Amino acid sequence: MIQVNENFLKLRAGYLFPEIGRRVRAFKAANPNAKVISMGIGDVTQPLAPAVIEAMHRAVDEMARPETFHGYDDGGVGYEFLRKAIVEDDFKARGAEIDLDEVFVSDGAKPDTGNMQEVFGVDNVVAVADPVYPVYVDTNVMAGRTGPVNERGQYERIVYMPATADNGFVPQPPEQSVDMIYLCFPNNPTGAVATKAELTQWVDYARRTKAVILFDAAYEAFIAEPDIPHSIYEIEGAKEVAIEFRSFSKTAGFTGVRCAYSVVPQALKAYTKDGRAVDVNPIWKRRHCTKFNGVSYVTQAGAAAVYTPAGQKQIRQTIDVYMTNATLIRETLTKLGYEVHGGANAPYIWLRTPDGMGSWDFFDRLLQQAHVVATPGAGFGAAGEGYIRLTAFGTPENVKEALERFAKL
Ligand code: PLP
Repeated sequence: MIQVNENFLKLRAGYLFPEIGRRVRAFKAANPNAKVISMGIGDVTQPLAPAVIEAMHRAVDEMARPETFHGYDDGGVGYEFLRKAIVEDDFKARGAEIDLDEVFVSDGAKPDTGNMQEVFGVDNVVAVADPVYPVYVDTNVMAGRTGPVNERGQYERIVYMPATADNGFVPQPPEQSVDMIYLCFPNNPTGAVATKAELTQWVDYARRTKAVILFDAAYEAFIAEPDIPHSIYEIEGAKEVAIEFRSFSKTAGFTGVRCAYSVVPQALKAYTKDGRAVDVNPIWKRRHCTKFNGVSYVTQAGAAAVYTPAGQKQIRQTIDVYMTNATLIRETLTKLGYEVHGGANAPYIWLRTPDGMGSWDFFDRLLQQAHVVATPGAGFGAAGEGYIRLTAFGTPENVKEALERFAKL
């Protein structure tokens, strides 16, 4: 008899986005002439940079000739031309020394943040912020690192660290012992960033307790303030305890192209049950090259073009479009009397619902009265109740119109 992996049965049914979809469809059916604007999506709307498009066209032409054709890349870890650009421009330029063989190119930070847990023992205790990007939690549920879910939507054995207005949405290291710590800065969904001092506390905690930090920096390109770290490796000692995830999705509009990378430092150790230190980098390399066969040459050529002077200028222009949206959302809603967080170093705005309304109640009010779709904060965790998330990824026209409707609420 074939048995099912019962860990999957513990997963809370996909609730948030299907429920949003259901409510939006019902509203549109009842109001066919209403122009609904989505400020809920986490997808980009601006096209790829011309430098990326040109590089991809060139790469396609290379694939048409035997002398420039490319097959499998270097064991699936990424072509050297791309890893070199990553090491130089994303790390060395910010004072962090990362080796070529510490970089693993992939098809997304979602798969990377989801897959990385495989190399760690199933008895490890996982810590996540609340609210949280759900992938960190669900992939650990699938792996069997949790108990069942309770009525608050929280899994037994996961340590939830509330990210609230009181702690500036940056949780402190917990009292109890944890082993796998997921941190995401700039944060989805709160838009919060962590200072060097805050990240140093985490790195020191991980070094003291022999824990690992899984640092999701998918939104680092949106950091505007000069003193905010873009990489965990800007913190001394981080290479001993941290893995970092990056993505071209939001940085360069690659959500539909698919390219990302992880950094697994040579200095990072995990331990056997009897306390023997083991290098994580070769284990991840083994895992990555066994289950993944590389990102297409055309895609990697496009990603490398992001690092050229023209590519850098063009992706900055696109990020500026989104961050101009974010500033407008933040300033307009603040003027209207809302309590607004995020949106300064991140494309997400975390808005306190007015008059203590529940997340879903305010979602419904926005949909019904302003024809604007947001994402209820409660969908990202119990501590997200009383908030909604707005994204700055819409077109400037739609963002302006949505804000005019907010003003009339
Ligand atoms: N990490 C965070 C925090 C995200 O919000 C997202 C996308 O929404 C991802 C990772 C996924 O990135 P990718 O498109 O590279 O899979």
